Amino acid sequence: MQDVAAPKLSIDKGVNLRTLNSFGLPATAHTLVRIDGEATLRRVVDHPELGRAPKFVLGGGSNIVFTRDPQAVVLKVEVMGRRLVEERADAWIVEAGAGENWHDTVAWTLEQGLPGLENLALIPGTVGAAPVQNIGAYGVELRERFESLDLVDLVTGRTATLGIDACHFGYRDSVFKHALAGKSVITRVRFRLPKPWRAVVGYLELERKVNETGNASPDARTVLDWVCAIRRAKLPDPALIGNVGSFFKNPVVSTEQCRDIIGRDPEVVHYLLPDGTVKLAAGWLIDACGWKGKTIGRAGVYEKQALVLVNRGGASGAEVLTLARAIQESVYGRFGIRLEPEPIVI
Ligand SMILES: Cc1cc2nc3c(=O)[nH]c(=O)nc-3n(C[C@H](O)[C@H](O)[C@H](O)COP(=O)(O)OP(=O)(O)OC[C@H]3O[C@@H](n4cnc5c(N)ncnc54)[C@H](O)[C@@H]3O)c2cc1C
Repeated sequence: MQDVAAPKLSIDKGVNLRTLNSFGLPATAHTLVRIDGEATLRRVVDHPELGRAPKFVLGGGSNIVFTRDPQAVVLKVEVMGRRLVEERADAWIVEAGAGENWHDTVAWTLEQGLPGLENLALIPGTVGAAPVQNIGAYGVELRERFESLDLVDLVTGRTATLGIDACHFGYRDSVFKHALAGKSVITRVRFRLPKPWRAVVGYLELERKVNETGNASPDARTVLDWVCAIRRAKLPDPALIGNVGSFFKNPVVSTEQCRDIIGRDPEVVHYLLPDGTVKLAAGWLIDACGWKGKTIGRAGVYEKQALVLVNRGGASGAEVLTLARAIQESVYGRFGIRLEPEPIVI
């Protein structure tokens, strides 16, 4: 039964999504509903038409490639709010609404004297999308700072809380890309920020900053500033050049496969993983195939980082996919490795 006292749902028709995705790709939502909390989601689930319709959850649109109009009702997540939930002997527990901007939330935690997320600074998008691909950067992954999240089931309208085990986090992966894909909306995320805080500066480019500055014990604000400076120097600002960050995941291969590649290309950038497999730098593989700075149609490969595909102005999703496929084919032809896209392709 609908609650007559509850505010009306905010339903917009024919919404242009070009400014709602960081690649700036053309697409139109036939219906877009703004979600400000769990109660609004339950009203969507109970709604006679919206309840039955397929749904697509949209955060900041910074990990999506629109190749066509979404055929689903778009739920634009705008759940706000941030607070310190609890201080334990070994950690601070902080909660943020899924619609909060990710970087602003990282900056806010530092302003509150709650360090731990600084290595993940300047990643575009929202708090709610962070667990979806287990965002990671500069030596830290979200799962290392994760406590729990709340979600609303899009079929039953029920709220549930998931801990770390239920999320099945992997490299740029989680249950929200598989069993729970499109089935629920994350409304709030809680972070576990370990005490005492220790700087994570083992990642190559951060180590370089330590050496350049002679500061071997940076505080969290300094680490955040270093991460922002490194990112600004090598990644295009989506406000100026449309992109979704890394377009491909770094492939993981066996030691034998890696040895074979090193035999032919001794310079290949690779990292040994704790389980004995080897992660190869996808950007290096793409660069080695001569793609840096190249353009097909109105989509191109960023001049400073071959892992980033960019919108040269007015590109369509189809043009981006044509370029991505051409890159995949040439990397496969030379190295026998299939690159897997990182963003969600609609
Ligand atoms: C310049 C640039 C740099 C980047 N650097 C990094 C990086 O260093 N590391 C990294 O990991 N990523 C990086 N990314 C990718 C991107 O920023 C992250 O994946 C980010 O978490 C996406 O957030 P979003 O709100 O924009 O999600 P969207 O693009 O809106 O959505 C992504 C996926 O999450 C789902 N989703 C979104 N919100 C919710 C929700 N509340 N509940 C359920 N599902 C939801 C969507 O349905 C979609 O499947 C970068 C992107 C850009 C443009």
